[in-house]
Amino acid sequence: MTEPSIFTRILNGDIPGEILAETDRVFAIRDINPQAPVHLLVIPKTEQYRNVVELAAGDPELLGEIVSLSNDLAATHADGEFRLVFNTGAHAGQTVFHVHAHVLAGGLSEASVG
Ligand code: 5GP
Repeated sequence: MTEPSIFTRILNGDIPGEILAETDRVFAIRDINPQAPVHLLVIPKTEQYRNVVELAAGDPELLGEIVSLSNDLAATHADGEFRLVFNTGAHAGQTVFHVHAHVLAGGLSEASVG
């Protein structure tokens, strides 16, 4: 049996981390190393999917829930506009293989793409 991901450990209260919002199937936390004025992570409660490609193929409705909660959080924590990033694969910067969306908001540069 593999170790629970860092996000599962936060969800379970095994390590510190404030749950900012949750539904039956997804939850949100602040990124510990923010790359934008607002940098949140929206994460399924199960670790079944390693990345967004697997998630989209296996449970597109759950992907929709991630997008919907991201939109709600951007309205609550910023001006409602946001960038949604799914790093997919180690060479693309993915470090946690429990699918999660980065919600980046609050004064992002118009020119920036990543
Ligand atoms: P990835 O690199 O996999 O796309 O994103 C993983 C993210 O998780 C990183 O942005 C990293 O800063 C964040 N992260 C890693 N460990 C922790 C932690 O213990 N708590 C929180 N809140 N975020 C974490």
